[in-house]
Amino acid sequence: MILVLIGAPGAGKGTQADLLVATQGWHKISTGDALRKQIAKRTAVGLEAEGYVKAGRLVPDAVLWGVLQEELQAHAGAKILLDGFPRNIQQAEALQALPALFAVRAVAHLDVPEEDLYERLVGRRVCQGCGASYHVHKRPPQSEHSCDHCGGALLLRSDDQPEKIKVRLAIYEADTKPVLDFYKRCGLYHRIDGRGDTEAVAAQLSAFAASF
Ligand code: AMP
Repeated sequence: MILVLIGAPGAGKGTQADLLVATQGWHKISTGDALRKQIAKRTAVGLEAEGYVKAGRLVPDAVLWGVLQEELQAHAGAKILLDGFPRNIQQAEALQALPALFAVRAVAHLDVPEEDLYERLVGRRVCQGCGASYHVHKRPPQSEHSCDHCGGALLLRSDDQPEKIKVRLAIYEADTKPVLDFYKRCGLYHRIDGRGDTEAVAAQLSAFAASF
């Protein structure tokens, strides 16, 4: 069974997914994380995906689909929390066509106003060691350049540079927003107000996810 977590870049999907994994035993599959791993390992898929990820563009479905299927098969039967997929209608349709083991039970939309997203993304710093995420103003690390958990270096993601952010937000508007309507038509859509602090959003999401 799958719970899809959907939201614009900067809406807090990764942070909220990690909290849900820690509190409710979901298994998170993040297509962004999976692609970044493939890129770091210099696999064939990673090399194909790299230019798209760095530019903030969507990786072609044919490249991504194999990566996703491998992750899904490895966790068949688990309660899967899907972060970052689907991002367009074709991906949503492909997901709906999977066997019942991977049925989408619900879709949680982390809804954050567009004007807040840019500020969240330019201030984001990610640990190169463990992947923990910080924000220079809202969730600063104890020491400016190193991770509180593992001491790893904190860097701006290459696709969190201002011009890349604009591309990613435009793609979200054009390609991913129609996916929300798709799931409304399927009766699977549930809105989560993503504007509050991390804990307030987590409380809403965990109450919703606990019913599955
Ligand atoms: P994320 O960490 O979810 O922001 O994803 C980072 C990048 O990975 C995106 O900007 C895309 O380049 C790529 N990516 C992640 N998920 C998908 C997807 N479902 N379809 C196409 N590209 C994706």
